Amino acid sequence: MLRVGITGGIGSGKTTVAQIFSLLGVPVYNADHSARRLMNSDKNIREAIVKLFGQESYKGTELNRSFITSKVLENEKNRALINAIVHPATIADAENWMKQQKAPYALKEAAILFESGAEKNLDFVIGVYAPEALRIRRTIKRDGRSEAEVKKWMSRQMNEDEKMKLCDFVIYNDGNHSVIDQVLSLHKKLLNLAARQSAPPEKE
Ligand code: ATP
Repeated sequence: MLRVGITGGIGSGKTTVAQIFSLLGVPVYNADHSARRLMNSDKNIREAIVKLFGQESYKGTELNRSFITSKVLENEKNRALINAIVHPATIADAENWMKQQKAPYALKEAAILFESGAEKNLDFVIGVYAPEALRIRRTIKRDGRSEAEVKKWMSRQMNEDEKMKLCDFVIYNDGNHSVIDQVLSLHKKLLNLAARQSAPPEKE
């Protein structure tokens, strides 16, 4: 089975594009959702976060997301420290999930793939691209966050052009290209690549 990553900056449309693949029957792992689940359920992660940011990190058994977000946005060091706690566990969880999939290929959706080194476990990476101004507009509309906050998140992520250069395929979600057509064409390509991967070697 092929392991394929799907990435892109905040508001690029990763989840939207991944949902189309999912409708085509492709299993999708969402790293962001899994990281949140692990922060709530994994005792070691919980203890490490409380040690780092204090008791306010949790409200009862639930992660105090607004508090953690404010800590992450406070400075680069905090972001790196929490990533060092959460990323290895999420990468391991995704690996486990991948092993259980039975499809020709499966997708791992993550905003941070290259930055966390997670791409090393993947055969291909798809980038979802949208221009910055559109990403800001879509994120403000979706989350009700301020423009300043969205821009702050963006400044903490890898440069989008650099990220797309590292991807094997790019889907343009910029309002000028049909996303459905691009997904259908890429789906076909990935099925072919998966079939080639699982074919027995030709006899000489
Ligand atoms: P994040 O990294 O913040 O989770 P994301 O890359 O997963 O973001 P989405 O949540 O898929 O991005 O998209 C951001 C917002 O933009 C959503 O509200 C989504 O419905 C909207 N959106 C995405 N693509 C399009 C599109 N082609 N046309 C209109 N709206 C779109």
